[in-house]
Amino acid sequence: MHFFKVHLSSRKPPLKYSIKLLIPIILLSVILFNIILYHYSLQENIKENVSGIEDDYVKNVLEGYISRNMQGLSYNICGYSVQGKPVYYYTMGKGEICVLIIGGLHGDEPKGTYACLELIEYLSKNENLTSKYNFIIIPLCNPDGAKEFKRRNYNNVDLNRDFYTKSQPETSAIINLFHKRKPIILIDVHESQDSMPIIIYANNSKSSHLASFISLQNNIPALLAANVGQSANFAEKENIYGIILELPRSSWKYGNGTIILFNIIETLDLYISKEYKTLSIN
Ligand SMILES: [Zn+2]
Repeated sequence: MHFFKVHLSSRKPPLKYSIKLLIPIILLSVILFNIILYHYSLQENIKENVSGIEDDYVKNVLEGYISRNMQGLSYNICGYSVQGKPVYYYTMGKGEICVLIIGGLHGDEPKGTYACLELIEYLSKNENLTSKYNFIIIPLCNPDGAKEFKRRNYNNVDLNRDFYTKSQPETSAIINLFHKRKPIILIDVHESQDSMPIIIYANNSKSSHLASFISLQNNIPALLAANVGQSANFAEKENIYGIILELPRSSWKYGNGTIILFNIIETLDLYISKEYKTLSIN
């Protein structure tokens, strides 16, 4: 009996041991709580990155810029999607050389759209570019796909394989605007899973020459377009300069990727100023 009592009292840890045990438990709980919090905030970020683009997003951004009296900016509608959403385009610059920049052909590649919209701010502060060029920019070519964060359009057609057939209203809208404004350069901005940007071009002498120049100047790999019907092939058929720019989905080196588009526009200007005399630009 006496032994039992002693045994019971020895099982109860003294207070100083309880406190010693409590400290690592609290520390562990705090660490665990932070891990869970980080995990959920990461999930939120991922969700944010993969969420679709709302119907009025492009219009609201453009109107926001207009309300800030951004010099030389105007926007209009070049056509409608399968579901009747407007396809907006904006123009900047009064120069002779027309450059058409398109983004968001694939609805699950929002970086192209964001980069095209951010380009407005960049151009508004760059008179050197706006005095020489007339930029026509379609930030979101596939609003139905973008709303659902889906590559193809509402009819399940890959718009970047529809440039020859023009079977979809979105592709028709782009090409009609193309024929109306007659650009000599087409830049089609996409987003890829790679951590590096990539330039894609078709096998005409103009585009391959420009792509090599941009590739060397910006240290970006350039690849030959494989699929017939892509915007790059369309540029080849129309005998103009055409490149597809793939922005990296995530890259610590390039941030949100927008800067790559700005650099390419600057390189394009350098290319035109160097090669203008030897190339047939009209
Ligand atoms: Zn794409």
